[in-house]
Amino acid sequence: MDIKSLVRKNIKNLKPYASAREEFSGRADIFLDANENPYGLDLNRYPDPMQRKLKEKISKIKAVPAKNIFLGNGSDEVIDLLIRIFCEPRKDEIILLPPTYGMYKVCADIANVGKKEVLLTPDFQPEVEAVLGVAGRNSKILFLCSPNNPTGNNFEFGKMVQLIENFPGMVVVDEAYIDFSTQKSAITLLLEYPNLVVMQTFSKAWGLAGLRLGMAFSSKEVVGFLNSVKPPYNINFLTQKTAEKILNEKQRVQENIQKILFQRRRLEGELRELKFVKKIHPSDANFLLVKVERADDLHQFLVERKIIVRNRSRVPLCEDCLRITVGTEEENERLLQELQLYQEKFIQ
Ligand code: PMP
Repeated sequence: MDIKSLVRKNIKNLKPYASAREEFSGRADIFLDANENPYGLDLNRYPDPMQRKLKEKISKIKAVPAKNIFLGNGSDEVIDLLIRIFCEPRKDEIILLPPTYGMYKVCADIANVGKKEVLLTPDFQPEVEAVLGVAGRNSKILFLCSPNNPTGNNFEFGKMVQLIENFPGMVVVDEAYIDFSTQKSAITLLLEYPNLVVMQTFSKAWGLAGLRLGMAFSSKEVVGFLNSVKPPYNINFLTQKTAEKILNEKQRVQENIQKILFQRRRLEGELRELKFVKKIHPSDANFLLVKVERADDLHQFLVERKIIVRNRSRVPLCEDCLRITVGTEEENERLLQELQLYQEKFIQ
């Protein structure tokens, strides 16, 4: 597949902004090139626009060459940039498989780009034939979220491969929750498929949602387009340094993932005992999608008890469902106590 033929003409022809720090990357004694303030603490200098040190570290952990890595201000920024690179407003479209993460649609709406939606099956899998059936010349990006938010399940790997292989545009596999999953990452497919972008994030398993750091893995060509469109200093200095540090603490991060998985199993077991819980959807993420009786009432009760879960009951295929993030042992315990109280008060 010729990736360039999918890219918008104005982006192909773009002469990207060259920041002072990009034009000179060697060692020097005095920097008078970027109109920085010579005084101040460690933050008076612009950060490395290409995040070289950080990418080297990520490269080792993910076994992906640094030239195939792009870093965004959260993976939300990557979604926005991809749509702006590939989709011509009022002409092109993205394909979404609801129920799924809301930002794909919002970014397309902001960019005035069309959307085609193909509902997942009742067990939340993509319908490969139906997706390929709606794809046309202007379908530039297909978003696959696996594990999917808000349903929590993995898409079958074989189905994703079929889609990547046969979709006539870019396929973005959003793996925000992959570190909680038993499934292998689609990163393993990168060499084979130039139309593939795999997104991951530091916001979930790495516990750094406040940092705003997302990763995209793709061909050198796609990474090049992402770099040419991004704001020059999209990853700030503090984010780069903090992420470099946390990448040395993989062991602790791994322990926290195990704690969350243990808590997920426990929460699932306890929720199952409640009379008003109708179904707990299988999860490969750090949350559970739970079908209950009268989701709105229960949601409101929890808000009044100062516990906030996500009401997904108006989302297609998620009727009467709440999405509950797995918290600490203490937080989950409080939640379960309140749910017990709700049962005693309102359920016959
Ligand atoms: N993708 C999915 C599936 C998500 O659930 C989220 C956040 N809820 C994101 C992407 C955005 O992550 P980030 O914090 O990296 O912008």
